[in-house]
Amino acid sequence: MNEFTEIGHKIDICPNCEEEREIKLGKKKETLIINKEPFEIEAQVEYCPTCKEYFADTETEEANIQKAYYAYREAHELLQPNEIQKIREKYGLSQRTFSRLLGWGEITLHRYEAGGVQDEAHNNELILIDDPENFSILFDRYRDKLSPHQIHRVEKRLGELPEKEFTKCFSDALMYRNVDIYSGFLLFDEEKFENAVLYFTSKLKTPVYKTKLNKLLWYFDFINFKTTSVSVTGCAYVHARYGPVPESYDFLIGSMIANRSLEAQEVVFDQENDVAGEILSALEEPDLSAFSMEEKANLEKVASSLGSLTSAQISKMSHDEEGYKKTEDWEKISYDWAKDLKIPLG
Ligand SMILES: [Zn+2]
Repeated sequence: MNEFTEIGHKIDICPNCEEEREIKLGKKKETLIINKEPFEIEAQVEYCPTCKEYFADTETEEANIQKAYYAYREAHELLQPNEIQKIREKYGLSQRTFSRLLGWGEITLHRYEAGGVQDEAHNNELILIDDPENFSILFDRYRDKLSPHQIHRVEKRLGELPEKEFTKCFSDALMYRNVDIYSGFLLFDEEKFENAVLYFTSKLKTPVYKTKLNKLLWYFDFINFKTTSVSVTGCAYVHARYGPVPESYDFLIGSMIANRSLEAQEVVFDQENDVAGEILSALEEPDLSAFSMEEKANLEKVASSLGSLTSAQISKMSHDEEGYKKTEDWEKISYDWAKDLKIPLG
């Protein structure tokens, strides 16, 4: 019984007859031996009805072997080449650099991504390294093996990974964790920060662009410092082009978007004022019980006094504040400037 399934034919030289024949193209079940284990695959083959021989060209043969490798990896719960590639690309590294960081031969990773079967020890290393916390341990230890450009790219990638990818320990490393005049004498409080973001992005009637949100958060923390001598969120703010922004803003907001508590919608808007942005909207209600009475009152004051301003207006207003005027690009803004806030609160 012939299990050959024909899918087409061509006129070609049969490598067996060494004559021009009508060659049938098709599929046939074949068993390949990988590391002494048999794997049945559906192989692509050519068939010559004259000599009744099956054959395949080098390229097709290679594809058939890859199918068997795939089955082998699946049976042994090993990562597939595309999964290995995904782990590597997550950290923005080339095959060569990633191999070097892992202490492997330079072309080892290239071989795996091209379909070569990895051994179990290498496979385990890759599984562990998929966790950014483990990766960062390795990265810290062997960063000297990378160029400054590569180091910068890895750090940027780590900063962009969504929060859920991290253990608490790693997100801590990215945040300003000092208790001093730059944090408003509080430790960064993720719960309060997120609820302030959710409040501003759910309660205001006008769209909340990124630029505007940054300013609202800054005023909220600084006004609270002015009245109570401490900030609310413990967030450090830096001097950016359009005004003060929370340090690690992209990481914080990116985490909220990844966790589906916040949504960002990219919009082309306000070309006149050349202020680029995205509209942010809360996907869940803020939990105001996170705040004290006074903090809640300040939250409402900021919303009612500044909430209806456009990004351009609130940005311009923040540029007039002493804390902004007395600092340079990317410099942290001391909460000490809160005493000089010009903003009138209704
Ligand atoms: Zn033949």
